[in-house]
Amino acid sequence: MEKIAVIGGGAAGMACAVLLARKGRAVTLLERGERLGRKLSATGNGQGNVTNVNMGAEYYFSDDNGKVARALSRFSASDTVAFLEDMGGIFLPDGRGRVYPAGRQASAVTDLLRREIARLNVNVVFGAQVSSLTYDGDFRLAWAGGQMRADAVVLAAGGKAAKNFGTDGSAYALAQGFGHTVTPLSPVLVQLRCDPKAVRGLKGIRADAALVLLRDGKEIYATRGDILFTESGLSGDAVFRASSYAQKGDKVVLDFLPDVDSGRIAAAAERGGMLCIVNNGLARVLAAHGRAEELCKRFELTVTGTLGFDYAQATRGGIPLKETDENLMSLKREGLFFAGEILNVDGMCGGYNLQWAFTSAFIAAEGL
Ligand SMILES: Cc1cc2nc3c(=O)[nH]c(=O)nc-3n(C[C@H](O)[C@H](O)[C@H](O)COP(=O)(O)OP(=O)(O)OC[C@H]3O[C@@H](n4cnc5c(N)ncnc54)[C@H](O)[C@@H]3O)c2cc1C
Repeated sequence: MEKIAVIGGGAAGMACAVLLARKGRAVTLLERGERLGRKLSATGNGQGNVTNVNMGAEYYFSDDNGKVARALSRFSASDTVAFLEDMGGIFLPDGRGRVYPAGRQASAVTDLLRREIARLNVNVVFGAQVSSLTYDGDFRLAWAGGQMRADAVVLAAGGKAAKNFGTDGSAYALAQGFGHTVTPLSPVLVQLRCDPKAVRGLKGIRADAALVLLRDGKEIYATRGDILFTESGLSGDAVFRASSYAQKGDKVVLDFLPDVDSGRIAAAAERGGMLCIVNNGLARVLAAHGRAEELCKRFELTVTGTLGFDYAQATRGGIPLKETDENLMSLKREGLFFAGEILNVDGMCGGYNLQWAFTSAFIAAEGL
């Protein structure tokens, strides 16, 4: 029987192995670590934000959003929920469309997939960091202490973000060996570093704020949500969303009272200072920078960078979609498919990256 090797036991690789095994295909899942789905188990602050009911290519960055749209039309948010619920569990959206398992445990989502992989008798090889992938009539894969031949390969080895989960970017070389390129890589869904003077004294303070990102005075992106001041800058879900757009030198403008107009703040400040208007610690720092009652609606920070790949949730860049066909098969080597974050596709914060992992896994499995 035709042998298929899936490289990488993350969300995309596990889903692809399940879908292929259900079609009766002989699949070997190769994972460099000792467990499947370690990153999946850490997603959504441990709660597993697996997709989002507001789905569409407009939530993604890639070199071919038309292809992303067509892929999503073949396997979208409701398909992800159906795929997961078919194995067990209940998946529900929160008030902002983010879909989680009802038990709010990401590791339980991984367990669903692991259990299905075991039930389907998928051959899983741990400690198999594929370091060589070549073709001489069929594919040859090699890792320290092992090797195999395969008729087809799904490269689902992830990107460069969060290397403590086994993704250090080394797997791109496996595709480059067949002449694939890799678009410039950068960390996204990551804390922003800011001018240290601006954030001094604010570490640990949280707020629900409106955030506007400006470049050369022009608005690039605006959002509202959780902001957390850190040692070196800003975190929180609003900041993670903005990190998909931010560049060094951009300005972040925060409005800590987006629902209150300046006149009401000025009147309240005249009566009782900044007490009960914003967090006291924040008020002190704002006062050190100027008039607190004005700055609480327009606190400006300069982006000096990000915390980098090790702390990022996703990778911007990867193997271009333009180097694959509609089934995510390589245009350089027939029989080589891609799935997940290794491709040049990243989604906004809110379940979009796992949706891409599942969508691309489905597309590759169908293509095979
Ligand atoms: C902390 C954190 C929280 C996140 N939260 C969310 C969230 O809530 N919602 C969301 O949508 N996205 C979230 N993401 C992003 C999402 O987890 C990833 O985009 C997604 O897991 C990518 O799936 P993947 O299968 O392509 O890669 P990965 O899940 O990274 O899996 C790749 C696998 O390949 C293995 N591997 C690598 N190289 C090799 C090799 N040479 N040989 C064999 N195996 C190899 C790795 O060990 C790894 O197990 C989060 C990411 C992080 C880090």
